[in-house]
Amino acid sequence: MKLTAQQSDRAAGVLLGAAAGDALGAGYEFTYPNSEVTIDMIGGGPFNWAPGEWTDDTSMAVAIAEVAATGIDIGSSGGLDAIAAQFIRWYDSKPADIGNQTRAVLSARSESAAAMADRARAISGHKAGNGSLMRTAPVALSYLDDAEGARSAAHRISSLTHDDPRAGQACELWTHAIRHAVVAGNFEGVRDFLSVADQEVAEYWGPLLDQAETGNPQDFSKNGWVVHALQTAWWAITSTDNSDARHLQHAWEAAVRAGGDTDTTAAIAGGLLGARWGASAVPARWRRIMHGWPGYRSSDLVRLAIKTARGGTDDQNVGRRRQNSITRGSAEPTT
Ligand SMILES: [Mg+2]
Repeated sequence: MKLTAQQSDRAAGVLLGAAAGDALGAGYEFTYPNSEVTIDMIGGGPFNWAPGEWTDDTSMAVAIAEVAATGIDIGSSGGLDAIAAQFIRWYDSKPADIGNQTRAVLSARSESAAAMADRARAISGHKAGNGSLMRTAPVALSYLDDAEGARSAAHRISSLTHDDPRAGQACELWTHAIRHAVVAGNFEGVRDFLSVADQEVAEYWGPLLDQAETGNPQDFSKNGWVVHALQTAWWAITSTDNSDARHLQHAWEAAVRAGGDTDTTAAIAGGLLGARWGASAVPARWRRIMHGWPGYRSSDLVRLAIKTARGGTDDQNVGRRRQNSITRGSAEPTT
C-alpha cells in the first residue's frame, strides 16, 4: 500500500524497535534488575553479547523479513518454504543462543515448510515457548492492507517451529496489533483482535489482557511461556507513561526490569512500540551500535522493513501486486 511519511516511519520502526528491545534486554537475561541497576545497551549477559548486538529473536525476524522483502506472499506455500530455508541458514550459522524448542525443530534441517511443521508437531513436551512470538513482527509489514492475511500468515509461520494453538494465537494477536499500529498510529489493535478472533480465542485472551493491564510482572512471571511473554510485553506498554515517543524507552526498561527472558519480552514489546512510535523514536546512540546476524546494522533493518511494506519494490508508488491475494487464496495450508 502507499504509505504516508508517518506510516513509513512507523513501518521502519517495526524491526528496529524489536531489535532495540532485544539488544537492550540481552545483557540482563535471566536476571531481575532492581531500581538501582541502570538499564542500557551494555551487552554481556549469559552469552556475552557485544554492546548493541541483537540475539536470536531479531535474527529469526530478519530471516522472515529477508523473504518478505522480496514481495512474495509469505503465507503461501512458496513463501513458507523460503522462510523455512532462511531459518536453516540461520541455524547453520551456529548462533550463540537458540531456544530449546526451535533447536529441536531446526536441527532436523527440514527441506520444506511442510516437513519443518511436521517436525514441530512430532516433538514432545512443552511446545508453547515464546520463540515464535518473538520473531513475528515483520509479518505485519507484508500485509498492511490485509488484516486477515496478516493473522493467517502469522499463525502459519509460528507453526513452522511451534505446534501449539496458543503460540499461534499470540502471533496472530501481536501481528494484528502491529499492523494496526503502523496503519493507524495507536495500540488499539491489541483489543481489536478480540473482536475479530473466534469466540473461544477471544474468551481466552481477553482476561489475560485485563490481567496484564491491571497486574504486575509477578502475575505472569513464567515469561519463557508465550502467554506470559505477551502479557509482560503488554504490561510494559500499558503501565508506562505513553504521552510522547519516550514511551518506547520507558516500556523497554519496564520489560527488562520485569526480569526473566528480558531480551525476548523487550523484543516483543519493541515490535509494537516501534510500529506505534516509528524508527525516528529509537535513540540514535542505540541505532549506531546495533548489529547482528547476518552482519547487518540498523540501516539494514530499516531497508528490509520499508521494502516489505512496499510489496518488495523500492518504488513507493507501486503497491502489493494483486496476484498475491489470489495466490494466498489458493495456498496450501501447512498446519
Ligand atoms: Mg534472545
